[in-house]
Amino acid sequence: MHELVIVSGIIEAVSNYAKQEGGRVVRFKVAVGELASFSIELIRELLRNLVKGTELEEAEFSVEAEKAEVRCLSCGATLGFSELIEPLPEDEREMIHFLPELVSSFSKCPRCGGRDFVIESGRSVRVVEVELE
Ligand SMILES: [Zn+2]
Repeated sequence: MHELVIVSGIIEAVSNYAKQEGGRVVRFKVAVGELASFSIELIRELLRNLVKGTELEEAEFSVEAEKAEVRCLSCGATLGFSELIEPLPEDEREMIHFLPELVSSFSKCPRCGGRDFVIESGRSVRVVEVELE
């Protein structure tokens, strides 16, 4: 269960940040990339359980999905990953879901027709905001 490792890491990172800054955590926000293949519900649930007994127990938190974006290396356009693969047949979309790099083999840039993409965001789980008091 990778989610457990991720959530422990999040709690540690937020706690360390608070320690470093010398404050108490009031609120923090976690973004789960749409390509990260983690269950947002499970992460939320684990967080709720694992903060018990830690200094984050009283803090509010939110866990939200983060859209994946790709950049076209030919023209520099930034494109939404799901918009880019939307016109593709379902079996191709499914393949790309498991191997996002395949997007370069199946999709074309709507702006320039290029086929060289880099995935810029949406592959990781990260803490995007911590509010201290
Ligand atoms: Zn392009």
